[in-house]
Amino acid sequence: MKEYFINLLNLSEIKMDEDKIDNMLSYLYLLAGKNKVMNLTAIRDEKDMLEKHFIDALLLTKVIKDDEKTFIDLGTGAGFPGLVLAIFYPEKQFLLVDSVKKKVAFLDEVIEKLNLKNVKTSTERAEEIIKKYREKFDVALCRGVANLRIILEYMIPFLKVNGRFLPQKLNLNELEESNNALNVLHSSIDNIHKFNLPISKDERIVLEISKNKKTPSMYPRAVGIPSKKPI
Ligand code: SAH
Repeated sequence: MKEYFINLLNLSEIKMDEDKIDNMLSYLYLLAGKNKVMNLTAIRDEKDMLEKHFIDALLLTKVIKDDEKTFIDLGTGAGFPGLVLAIFYPEKQFLLVDSVKKKVAFLDEVIEKLNLKNVKTSTERAEEIIKKYREKFDVALCRGVANLRIILEYMIPFLKVNGRFLPQKLNLNELEESNNALNVLHSSIDNIHKFNLPISKDERIVLEISKNKKTPSMYPRAVGIPSKKPI
């Protein structure tokens, strides 16, 4: 499995020290083990997990900058992309949030076993935890949670002015319907990064969105409203 992962990293032009590779593999085995007793991810094959979860998350390292130090990953599930990036960047701080307690319990187990000191977790919903963390982060991450216009309302309020939201998407279908949310939340799409996974060649997209001004305090609206009545 280690050779397979190293090959994926080489094909993707991602450099990683051996101790980090070992930590990623420990995380993989914990995930694969737990996934047998609890539904954490629909991907069951370990090689597929490495490509579609780990490499997919690591594509973000091509967009993240050195001076970005504080990250929030909302709806992180089994830790994607946030926990992979926390292992990759021990000097950066990560808050991983998911409202499903058993998923966060799994993350806590991995964090403890790998002795990671730069990661915190929370089981609160975005619309609640924002009260503690408004305009506190350099970067916001969010993969596979909801349509772009909805996650914009969740995530932009967490960012410092000039912070960046880097959502991962499979295609660009949601861009047009998100224009109003971008305007209302004083944010703009600066770049669209397209990648291909190394084996399947499936396309992966990272949107680079910047927050240009403070977010009006009415956003995000109360729990459930952002998804029921998107901006
Ligand atoms: N990011 C992971 C998981 C995606 S599944 C991955 O890409 O593999 C979406 C997750 O978002 C679920 O675990 C769900 O519990 C969480 N979620 C959805 N809406 C949320 C909200 N408002 N606040 C916190 N977590 C949320």
